[in-house]
Amino acid sequence: MSHPVDDDCIFCKIVAGKIPCFKLLEDEHTIAFMDINPVNPGHALAVTKGHWPTADVIPTEALAATAATAQRVAKAIVRELKPDGFNLVQNNGPGAGQSVPHLHIHVLPRHKGDGATLNWTYKPGNKDEIAALCERLKKAL
Ligand code: AMP
Repeated sequence: MSHPVDDDCIFCKIVAGKIPCFKLLEDEHTIAFMDINPVNPGHALAVTKGHWPTADVIPTEALAATAATAQRVAKAIVRELKPDGFNLVQNNGPGAGQSVPHLHIHVLPRHKGDGATLNWTYKPGNKDEIAALCERLKKAL
């Protein structure tokens, strides 16, 4: 399966190593890294390597690979961070709150009463805290 690229896409730039990320893992078809605007500590993204914007246009195989990566990250989050639960969230199109048109699945640790909503407001996280959580989760993969 070949991976289409959009040179203007921020996630394509991360996949190509042109801009840095707090990387958790990478395999043939996917990459996972920490969200830099975490809703909760440990918020991570499972991202397809190819530039397909939404779930209706991505090849099934690529979507399945991204789901598998999201599950792997979720297992690490559950093992290492022991949240009360987690959401897998995948937005499609601006009307659904998608801000980066390159398919990704949010792996979002949840805590009872944390007040997180489906379309949250972006707030930059503390980079040191994100890096430390990245290291912890990498070891838990
Ligand atoms: P969505 O709104 O569903 O498209 O989610 C896009 C997510 O990508 C948001 O949660 C952003 O915080 C996150 N994001 C944007 N740029 C970066 C980046 N350079 N590194 C990590 N996460 C990013």
